[in-house]
Amino acid sequence: MKLTLVQGDITEQRVDAIVNAANSSLLGGGGVDGAIHRKGGPEILEECRALRASRYGGGLPAGQAVSTTAGRLPARWVIHTVGPVYSRSEDRSHLLASCYRESLKVADALGAATVAFPAVSTGVYRWPMDDAARISVTTVLRSGSTIDEARFVLFDFAAYEIFDRVLREFG
Ligand code: ADP
Repeated sequence: MKLTLVQGDITEQRVDAIVNAANSSLLGGGGVDGAIHRKGGPEILEECRALRASRYGGGLPAGQAVSTTAGRLPARWVIHTVGPVYSRSEDRSHLLASCYRESLKVADALGAATVAFPAVSTGVYRWPMDDAARISVTTVLRSGSTIDEARFVLFDFAAYEIFDRVLREFG
């Protein structure tokens, strides 16, 4: 698997699947989630509502992942995952790692060859970028996934630089 980094907007990525940093309601939010629903159109939200009504009545738990189609986005699928809220008193790293592992399992099951990830939990959920980068990069590299490319899409240059440094260190 090739691991690549770009600075940009995840909604514009021409990949098979993009990962959404969703919240457990699956009914939309700010950040990446807001951008995906805004640009992808109402179809994605309809599918999310159906998932809530069937498999995830109590919401999608942190660390898990589920897919929908991608509406008007260039990608074919959106893989929704719920990152943990950062806590200084409790180590929730296993949940953040699980987001990447479970998203890749969903991607493998879909037959996606290329998958773009945002830096899950580093926005509203406040995870420090350097720690999130280390967890994300090492988890993806060790996942054993059969996809061809995992692309990290960092919204700003500061985040891109941090991921670049971590990738040189661990990649
Ligand atoms: P979370 O609730 O998991 O923290 P956010 O969406 O608030 O999720 O933020 C996750 C990361 O995604 C942040 O680093 C944020 O800067 C970044 N981000 C926000 N919008 C986009 C976008 N359109 N494309 C890529 N990354 C984005």
